[in-house]
Amino acid sequence: MGVRVARLLAFTPLAAALLQGPITVGQTTITNEYPERIAFEVRVASAAANVETVDLLLTVRGDTTTRSLRANAVPTRRPIAWVEWDPRPDGVPPGVPVTYAWKVRDAAGNVFTSPGETFIVEDARFAWRTLEGDDLAVWWYRGDDRFGRSIFDAANRALDRMRRASTADIDDRLHIVIYADDESFAGAQDYVQEWVGGRAYPSMAVTVQVVPPDAEADWIEDVIPHEVAHLFFYQATHTALSYGPPSWLDEGYASYHEFSSHHRDLRLVRDAAASGELIPLRLASGSFGVDAARVDLLYAESLSAVTFVYEGWGENGMASLLEALRQGADLDEALLQVTGLDFEGFQQAWWEWLGGEPGAYPTPPWEGPAPRTPMPTPTDRPVPPTTTPSPRSDVVFPPFPICCPLPLAAVAFIGAARVRDRGARRSWHSP
Ligand SMILES: [Zn+2]
Repeated sequence: MGVRVARLLAFTPLAAALLQGPITVGQTTITNEYPERIAFEVRVASAAANVETVDLLLTVRGDTTTRSLRANAVPTRRPIAWVEWDPRPDGVPPGVPVTYAWKVRDAAGNVFTSPGETFIVEDARFAWRTLEGDDLAVWWYRGDDRFGRSIFDAANRALDRMRRASTADIDDRLHIVIYADDESFAGAQDYVQEWVGGRAYPSMAVTVQVVPPDAEADWIEDVIPHEVAHLFFYQATHTALSYGPPSWLDEGYASYHEFSSHHRDLRLVRDAAASGELIPLRLASGSFGVDAARVDLLYAESLSAVTFVYEGWGENGMASLLEALRQGADLDEALLQVTGLDFEGFQQAWWEWLGGEPGAYPTPPWEGPAPRTPMPTPTDRPVPPTTTPSPRSDVVFPPFPICCPLPLAAVAFIGAARVRDRGARRSWHSP
């Protein structure tokens, strides 16, 4: 395993140190052995008394909490403190910025916290190449410049398109990390289903994907815009006040921004409406279940409903909808503001747009009483990862993905078996 050592500036200038009192913190050495561990080492000193405790404070972008790790340090006036962090159980992906600081306390009761410094987590097993702009950065390690550029350009075009049609913008730069194969990707995960070929971390503005250098351009131009759209959607709709938008809106928005034609999906939904197999849109919230055909239809319905918003109310309508959600409206309120329809009315209008008979919105097609999925509750939930599968068409996925005890709380399988000639697609999402 390659070990990359980075010496980062966490040096406190003398003047500042004098102002801060007797405690000083030197330059931090970070030894990166991700995904196993990241080690931190620093010389600290107190002019007043022995150093008693040294804590490393870590804040991962998108997290509302700060981790505190107690460092090893001999209680002297000038100890070297060191501590190791295992980022995988914390669900920390490569590509995410992490800010660290040292909190030092001496035996005389003096406390000093060093200024925060930021580094970006890299998988130390590979020699990464980077293409960076103000709004986007791409990391890859296999494939030439043209390959990296193709990912960057697809992401850039998708982001430009979303921005032009939105009142919202991104606060955090979007980071896209590309692994060349499933095994390398899986090695960076604490736990992963073997069919999973990518994962998005919207709250961290990071997506980690498996894209081999020989991937078809078509596939890149679907999966990268789709992932960028999830990251953009999160930043466009999320605040501490906002409700979690339903899956159909998030997935529909992401699918809508793929560059490929959506003819097949839109036709699938019209056919389902005509044959009485349409699944009520209300059920496209939270988990999409595990049945591949049902998951496929729910994805297509999500795309269809979002397409209906664009066709009926234009880009301004969608922009207003996202803005209303960001301002704290729930879905009913946001739809009412933009379309004049509440969710029930919106479903009816969509149904008629699909060619359905007025007043004949479908009842669920399964046996027994229909499961009623409640609309999202107004909690500020963390957004667990969204995942996509490998682009390799020769990878055999189980026909029905098996749901899955991910170590992340409350992550449910939503699936997205979009079987096309270039392979299957699956996604994870929060309920
Ligand atoms: Zn998705």
